[in-house]
Amino acid sequence: MTKKLTPMMEQYQQVKDQYPDAFLFYRLGDFYELFNDDAIKGAQLLELTLTTRNHSAKNPIPMCGVPHRAVNNYVDILIDKGYKVAICEQMEDPKKAKGMVKRAVTRLITPGTKMDLTGDAARQNNYLTAISAAGKFSLAYTDLSTGELKTTTLDSVGAIVNELVNLQSKETVVDGELPTELTTQLKQRNILQSHQPQILKNAEVSYLTQDLEDEQQKHVVALLVSYLLTTQKRSLAHMQRAIAYLPSSFMKIDHYSKTNLELTTNMRSGKRQGTLAWLLDETKTAMGSRLLKRWLDRPLIDPDQISARQDKVQELLDHYFERSNIQDELIKVYDLERLAGRVAYGSVNGRDLIQLKTSLLQVPKIKYVLETLDSPVFADLEKRLDPLSDIADLIDRAIIADPPISVTDGGVIKDGYNKQLDQYRDAMNNGKRWIADLQSHEREVTGIGNLKIGYNHVFGYYIEVTKVNLSKIPKDRYERKQTLVNAERFSTPELKEKEALIMEAQERSTALEYDLFAAVREQVKKQIKRLQSLAAALSELDVLQSFAVVSEDYHFVRPQMNTGHKLMIKDGRHPVVEKFMGHQEYVPNDVLMDDQTDILLITGPNMSGKSTYMRQLALTAVMAQMGCFVPAKSAELPIFDQIFTRIGAADDLISGESTFMVEMMEANNALKHATDHSLILFDEIGRGTATYDGMALAQAIIEYVHEHVRAKTLFSTHYHELTDLEKTLPRLKNVHVGATEKNGELVFLHKVSAGPADKSYGIHVAKLAGMPDSLLKRADQILGELEEKAVTLPLNEKKTAVTYHQPASADRVEETSATEESTAPSAQPSEPATSAMDANGQMELFAPAPQKAKSTKGEKILHQLKELNLMGMTPMEVMNQIYQWQQKLK
Ligand code: ADP
Repeated sequence: MTKKLTPMMEQYQQVKDQYPDAFLFYRLGDFYELFNDDAIKGAQLLELTLTTRNHSAKNPIPMCGVPHRAVNNYVDILIDKGYKVAICEQMEDPKKAKGMVKRAVTRLITPGTKMDLTGDAARQNNYLTAISAAGKFSLAYTDLSTGELKTTTLDSVGAIVNELVNLQSKETVVDGELPTELTTQLKQRNILQSHQPQILKNAEVSYLTQDLEDEQQKHVVALLVSYLLTTQKRSLAHMQRAIAYLPSSFMKIDHYSKTNLELTTNMRSGKRQGTLAWLLDETKTAMGSRLLKRWLDRPLIDPDQISARQDKVQELLDHYFERSNIQDELIKVYDLERLAGRVAYGSVNGRDLIQLKTSLLQVPKIKYVLETLDSPVFADLEKRLDPLSDIADLIDRAIIADPPISVTDGGVIKDGYNKQLDQYRDAMNNGKRWIADLQSHEREVTGIGNLKIGYNHVFGYYIEVTKVNLSKIPKDRYERKQTLVNAERFSTPELKEKEALIMEAQERSTALEYDLFAAVREQVKKQIKRLQSLAAALSELDVLQSFAVVSEDYHFVRPQMNTGHKLMIKDGRHPVVEKFMGHQEYVPNDVLMDDQTDILLITGPNMSGKSTYMRQLALTAVMAQMGCFVPAKSAELPIFDQIFTRIGAADDLISGESTFMVEMMEANNALKHATDHSLILFDEIGRGTATYDGMALAQAIIEYVHEHVRAKTLFSTHYHELTDLEKTLPRLKNVHVGATEKNGELVFLHKVSAGPADKSYGIHVAKLAGMPDSLLKRADQILGELEEKAVTLPLNEKKTAVTYHQPASADRVEETSATEESTAPSAQPSEPATSAMDANGQMELFAPAPQKAKSTKGEKILHQLKELNLMGMTPMEVMNQIYQWQQKLK
């Protein structure tokens, strides 16, 4: 069915065909209109009333519109939801146009290229990414507002997704097919894929890629830049030449761990409040705040770079007054990074230039303060602080102190900057003075005492005479212009002549002013690169002073970094928890792991502070490697290459994995990729499955880390039985978080001490949670029965360590877990049913005693039967157990 289109709809359709994947905002008078499917979907998303155009016709066209003044709000809503918007403007004055008004798309706004970022967004980067897949993956990213451009190569889908999530990219550009697994991940994470079929080969692309050696990296950067050039219709003069980076030159933290540790977003609301970024951010500029986040995303691993930052923090910490001075100057520094972007775009106005001048004027003052510090550690940074005095000077000479927002209406350029402009202004002023004098002259000549000279926009200058005095006017000179109720307005040939002169001078002066302003702007544009280097140096100083501030406020100390394996933290604290509860309330704790200790096994009741203790170490390591000081009385730390965490139940809801599966996947990721320079935090691993199944896994994981990985590992567990491992694993030490009972109630001490916890406090915690007395009594009774039997896991001996790698054993573990999962979905340590499972599955797997290893199948089953706790099992569980024995005997 083809509809016959009106000329306007024909024009609309032509434009729309070029932007099929964007909402087309089509300018019609004071409105932007959406048509057809855009209108139907747009009305819903933007809560607009859906109407129709041509409603009398057979095929009315769905339509909705937004007032042009409010367009930004509507665009923001669509961009936030991950859509693109094409803004189609009228390219000529509709009143003067012959036929259809010419229209064209002037801006394509996409989630990754959105520029006018205010409020919170000003403190964040908005990264557009590009991916190319050819065996390996190349990734490029840029922030269009600052011109940062980077690229790297990654070897797996997981690594790519990790980087995209870290960058919080909302849009990625591709030029071909990506692996399905990656496409699915992009969809799940709401990352818009934009196709850019054509790679441009122009000067801009070759300039931006010229420093790259790897062909695939060149390609992906060219892809990204081509997309920007095709969609943005703007100068990219501020883009910085692409820099290749190696992910391995920074401490790696995967995005699960970043989320878990709440480095930049909190787990409850996804906001910044309560995160490490929030705590550390005492920056004075938005660009400093963004750099701090980048440092947090990529902690250093080079000891020299770390100590170079620490040295500067120390200097600033030791010199309070100098630091305050620097802060006072930094506050007056505008967002130069984003300003450079807008200079390139040509969208700066007089006010922006004045802000630029003000910012630049702070630079010599900051340099001076750094000089007075007289410390070699700032020599380099100080050199990079180029005050751009030529530019500051130019702006100072050219632009008035308080210019209007508009750059086309004049009143921007200072007197004395340009001779021609001064002459126009003189002409205007003389003319105005002449007219002012005219009033007294005419009063005298006509004898009309209340004769007035006035001005209005429509009629220009006039002489006003009240009706009673009309008889006195010189009729030969006065020409009538306008009639009011009580008065008449006139002009004279002389007045007209002067008026024309004034108007002409005014017009010319406004046009000249605009040209002069544009020339100044052009001058600034030529210095964009210098402006960007200055911005980088100032941001760095801002972050360093921020570190000094928080180090002082929260009593942080400078950590000693070593390239070995020694980790000694005295009185360490979790900085964010401490901030919330107060320095006095927080119980500091040591983390002591000498060269010979790799694993701390942490026991203690729920809620005692085990996971806080683990997070505290991770945050301390991240802070140290960012170059910041750390929350402790003293700290000696190895440099970690990676941090892996499995903490809490941060289920990956998006991908719909079960908690236990996620737990195992994350644990596996750590075991596979960790090195002896990594940090692993495992919080209650194995909890998500039945007790002995979980306990067996936990033990096997600990043994594996101890034998094969040798990463520094904190392993918290409520499996008290595991504490026996200290006897056989020389690089494992027990610590526990203390708690005492007072009048039958549990009191948490939050103090970590050597040795295992002496008791499981689960029942006490249940009591605190308000469970019924009868239930608690019954649990006590069951616990008593279990303790009498004193079931313990076999210890790891060399022989058994080999055994658990055998495939046959692995099968057995699966078999037991399958049975248990169906019968004991919420296994508790005190659950009696599982003791039988232990006798069944685990004994065989780990049996250390030689006579048991030799025992026959029948003997084993007889032994297990003897041990079976019938009273604690359901009939179904007994059935299952007997069935398994039967299978084995067969
Ligand atoms: P667990 O992992 O043992 O269940 P958490 O680490 O979640 O316990 O800690 C529970 C609560 O105890 C925390 O929310 C915090 O309020 C408090 N807490 C933890 N560690 C400390 C400490 N060192 N000093 C004071 N309070 C603490």
